[in-house]
Amino acid sequence: MIQIRFTTVASRIKSCFKQWIAGRLLLPIILFATLLITGFVTADTALPPFGSSPFPAPKITASSVFQENEWWKVEARNMVRLQIKQRGIEDERLLQVMRNTPRHRFVPEPYSGSAYSDSPLPIGHDQTISQPYIVALMTNLLDVDQQHNVLEVGTGSGYQAAILARLAGEVYSIEIVQELAQSAKALLDDMGYDNVHVKWGDGYQGWPAEKPFDRIIVTAAPEKIPQALVEQLKPGGKMVLPVGDQYQVLKVVSKNRSGKVSKKTITGVRFVPMIHPEKPLKPEDK
Ligand code: SAH
Repeated sequence: MIQIRFTTVASRIKSCFKQWIAGRLLLPIILFATLLITGFVTADTALPPFGSSPFPAPKITASSVFQENEWWKVEARNMVRLQIKQRGIEDERLLQVMRNTPRHRFVPEPYSGSAYSDSPLPIGHDQTISQPYIVALMTNLLDVDQQHNVLEVGTGSGYQAAILARLAGEVYSIEIVQELAQSAKALLDDMGYDNVHVKWGDGYQGWPAEKPFDRIIVTAAPEKIPQALVEQLKPGGKMVLPVGDQYQVLKVVSKNRSGKVSKKTITGVRFVPMIHPEKPLKPEDK
């Protein structure tokens, strides 16, 4: 009797336990099956393989900006965003060229870490490479296109010429300090800017052999607008230059189709003065 009773009690407990388990599991099983059927749960997301993530990591490619030798691209992007775009320059072609031009290669080695900062920097011979925003502002005012022949007065480091090279047809750049003309030419050649032509000479005379120019940019300040440069401007052309002595202003000089010249003042600026050669230079094509 005792034996029978014990078996009955045990089987009762067993069946109660089964019911309890079934009751607890039934609902989750139904829910999971519904999700499977409706496609909310897929094999991929339900059980990601070990070591993988449902959110694929960005692929690091050969052109990734994080490559060690391309550190400067991050700096150039920030320079464009914070110093240039935020000050209202929006020409995407120009911004893209400035993002892709390694400005640190145009400054002397000790300054390469500051090349993307919001300031001009010394390039030797008492000269400076202009602040990035000024380069952008002048280039923007110049309104260059791929067909244009551009004259630059004041090659300096070659940076402004490099920016123009990617936006214009041909760039002719004159520099009065012979060593600067030579080093800028060597650097631009080395970097493959084959549409930039640099010569050592006096920018007050322009570049008569290559005139007339669609655009002229002067990156040192003459006291007044040099007449030879106005003459070398094509009808329909434009020149951007700083003018003045102690107090300088940035000007845009435009020549209309019939040759009439008009001038517009943009803003106050501070440039190195344009140098009058003490004795006439014998310019050489470098
Ligand atoms: N555009 C340059 C900035 C140059 S600073 C750059 O991107 O780095 C001005 C330059 O004008 C100096 O290199 C200076 O030597 C040059 N310069 C001054 N007077 C000049 C003249 N009469 N003719 C040509 N270049 C001149």
